[in-house]
Amino acid sequence: MAKANLIDNLNRALPAAARKPLAAIVRDAQSEALAIYLVGGSVRDLLLDRPTLDVDLTLEGDALALARRVAISLEDVRCTVHPTFGTATLKGADFRLDVATARVETYERPGALPSVHPGSLQDDLFRRDFTVNAMALAMTGDQRGAITDPFDGRSDLEARLLRVLHEASFKDDATRILRAARYGSRLSFRLESNTMRWLRRDVTYLKAICGHRIREELARIFQEPQPERILLRLSELGALQAIHPTLSFDSSRAEAFGKLREIHPTPSRTIYLALLAWEASRPEATAFATRLALNKRETEAVRAVAAVRALERTLSAEVRPSRVVELLSPFPSAAVWALAAAGRESARVQASRYLHRWRYVKPSLDGHALLAMGAIPGPQLGQALRRLKAAKLDGEVRSRRDEEKLARELLNAGARTRT
Ligand code: ATP
Repeated sequence: MAKANLIDNLNRALPAAARKPLAAIVRDAQSEALAIYLVGGSVRDLLLDRPTLDVDLTLEGDALALARRVAISLEDVRCTVHPTFGTATLKGADFRLDVATARVETYERPGALPSVHPGSLQDDLFRRDFTVNAMALAMTGDQRGAITDPFDGRSDLEARLLRVLHEASFKDDATRILRAARYGSRLSFRLESNTMRWLRRDVTYLKAICGHRIREELARIFQEPQPERILLRLSELGALQAIHPTLSFDSSRAEAFGKLREIHPTPSRTIYLALLAWEASRPEATAFATRLALNKRETEAVRAVAAVRALERTLSAEVRPSRVVELLSPFPSAAVWALAAAGRESARVQASRYLHRWRYVKPSLDGHALLAMGAIPGPQLGQALRRLKAAKLDGEVRSRRDEEKLARELLNAGARTRT
């Protein structure tokens, strides 16, 4: 593709709101005589003619200073900087641009975070995961529009291959194993044969990766349209088991992931985690949560699955809605979504109705209305409200009038027991 075309294509592919800040970044770099490049997945996607999700820029120079200057010159643009990594993000209402100082990364031991130093574009490309992600598009100077491709990523793009840059890549950073499965699924690329061999050999290095980084990569997997395909692949490769023995995934769980999206089009990370932990006992779920450094909400959800699973048999089709609500409402909703996806048929139906409708049901009469009808404040008022709610759930009352009638009966019965 001709040089100018790639930049034109980039501008076309970007959300309109991102074009002005990108132009401002390029102008600033040019006026400071600094070289700035589009790098990583954005170049890959541009060459593949796929929509570009992120814009990643690498500067041979101080990216933080550049990002700050640009943010000041534009309205409604927020700048966040991460001095440890030499990265900055410019964000507006409808766009996000990441600018990083070109860097060298060295790994002192497997699984450790790399030490980072400013470097050249070549250094920056050499630290990347796969050849197809190790290309750069020059945005400034005479080279504007030209691609730097030291590892022949373009040939791999054509052959639809994921190839690591060197033999120690997975040992240096085993999260690349998770990334390989994700890109493989997203792009329909195969692993190049040596890459596959090294991946299988080094899969145990996942044990050394801290929970926080695994959780971040899992979160990226959950954002893909069919995370189950990636998880199945990772399970076949022994990667999930290497992360933690309680992590397993098979075709029936994959099916449950698909069923989940039939009833919830955009499941949260917490829901996916609960479903991933579906078969875990409570102690196993605790170990799983610790290993993945889950936050409090996620931990509560995965720890609840064992108790929710225990309700599977109880939740037959005959159980009344009010009883379903009573049984399921104590649990985090993510664990109930897992039941609605992975449970036996009748429990799935009951859980799904609970999640979509029953948990939101409220009687028309509230406490004030009952007090106005002569109720006496105290435990009996709460009891009457619960009874009204159950009656509404079970279809015993259908209108406000019905509720008032039932409320009067309850209040009269209460008055009788008091006398
Ligand atoms: P995309 O490649 O589509 O941007 P993504 O959303 O996963 O996918 P990031 O995780 O933000 O993107 O990574 C952006 C780029 O940074 C990648 O294209 C890759 O070049 C590089 N990168 C990210 N993580 C690693 C890693 N663990 N090892 C090497 N390179 C990485």
